[in-house]
Order: sequence, then C-alpha cells, then structure tokens
Amino acid sequence: MKPPYDRAAPIVTSASRHSGIGMTSARTRERLVQRLREQGIVNPEVLEQIRNVPRHLFVDEALATRAYEDTALPIGLGQTISQPYVVARMTEALIEGTAPRKVLEIGTGCGYQTAVLSPFVKFLYSVERISALLERARARVKELNLRNVHLRHGDGFKGWVSHAPYDGILMAAAPLAIPEVLLTQLGPGGRLIAPVGPEGRQQLLRITRRGDDFHQEMLGLVSFVPLLKGLG
Ligand code: SAH
Repeated sequence: MKPPYDRAAPIVTSASRHSGIGMTSARTRERLVQRLREQGIVNPEVLEQIRNVPRHLFVDEALATRAYEDTALPIGLGQTISQPYVVARMTEALIEGTAPRKVLEIGTGCGYQTAVLSPFVKFLYSVERISALLERARARVKELNLRNVHLRHGDGFKGWVSHAPYDGILMAAAPLAIPEVLLTQLGPGGRLIAPVGPEGRQQLLRITRRGDDFHQEMLGLVSFVPLLKGLG
C-alpha cells in the first residue's frame, strides 16, 4: 500500500505556505511518530501516514507550530482537529486484519482523519454538518490530491445511504448511543468505530457486524465533541 505522499520529496505545499518556522521538519514529525509508537500504535503503515500527512495545513497558521504535538487543536466553529494518537488508533482499529474497501466517515472536520485514512481504502465517503468546515476540508482534499475521497454536507445521523453498505464506518463525533440507521448501513463483516457517551468522556467502541449480530469491543476512553443533529 503506497501513501500518496512521496517520502523522498519535501512537502512542497507546506514549505511554501508556512516557511521558515521549522514545524514541518522531519525531526518534529519523527518525534510525534515515536510518541505514538510508545503509546502502543504498532501498524507501520499507519505510523508512516502520521509522518507524511502535513497536519499543519489543516490548522490555522497561528497554530501551525503546534501541529505535530499530540493534542487536539481548535479549527473554529467550536470544533477541533482530532489528536494524532486517536486518529492513528481509530485507523488501526478500522483496518486491522483486512482493510475495508468502502468506508463512511462521519464528521469530516478539517479533513485530517480523512487524509490519514484515505490511502488504506478504495472509496472514502465523508459527511460533515458544518458547511464552512466542509469547504475548507474540500480545499485540502484537492490540494493533497486525495482522489478516492468524496465529501458531502449532511447530517451523519442519517449516514449516506446511496453508497451503503459500507465495510467500515468511522465516527469522529460522539453520539450517546450508536444510531440504529448506521448499523443498517454496515455490510456483512463491516466494522464501525465510534466514541460513545456524554461530552468529554466516551468509550471508543468497535462494533463488528456478523449477520444480524453486532459484536462489541471497548478500545479505551476518549474525548470527542458530540454528534449533533441537523445541519450547522
Ligand atoms: N476528525 C476530524 C475532527 C472531527 S471533529 C479532523 O481530523 O478534523 C467532529 C466533527 O464532527 C465536527 O466537524 C462536527 O461539526 C462534526 N459533526 C458533529 N455532528 C455531526 C453530524 N450529525 N453529522 C456530520 N458531522 C457532524
């Protein structure tokens, strides 16, 4: 599996946009990868993606120096770019064993998780309820030439029925309980990764569909923004 970023080449788009501060340096990124490894991320291809995806392009210029810290950062409109560890953990949990072919992401945000996941799947559909964020994510997807990514302004509570069933669904915002309709959009053997629970304190779940049974695993405590109804 080859990520769309050329490892040997410097990240040209980033260098021109935020030059001279050094936050895009290989050393800064390597430190982040090392930290994630220490925290238990084992998939080398996922770590490689964390190293290669230019996270500083997804945040405001004022925050770019912090882009390779392992923290969530504000992206405006009360939302945050996910913490690299959580993005890596969710990606790993989704692709473990056999990588899913067709995936639905709910909560595009700035598109960082989308960019990390994109080379692992054939089709990646992503829904965001806040149109200003979606348009920014669209620009990044274009800039990074992520051709298998399809974005939509919509309410993730409804999923994206026209492309269902999905081999994987990844939720980047937390519902109090998994919406039933999303389970119906999961194909046989499909996996849904989601933070579930009240704001700021959720359990990350992996739900695997086996026929009409749904097998549930708990992957640890996480902190996500809530999944909100309707369009923003
Ligand atoms: N992983 C993203 C961050 C997501 S933050 C990144 O890397 O940037 C969670 C996002 O979910 C927010 O942008 C929020 O607007 C969106 N969201 C919340 N409820 C939603 C819903 N019902 N449908 C679609 N998106 C939703």
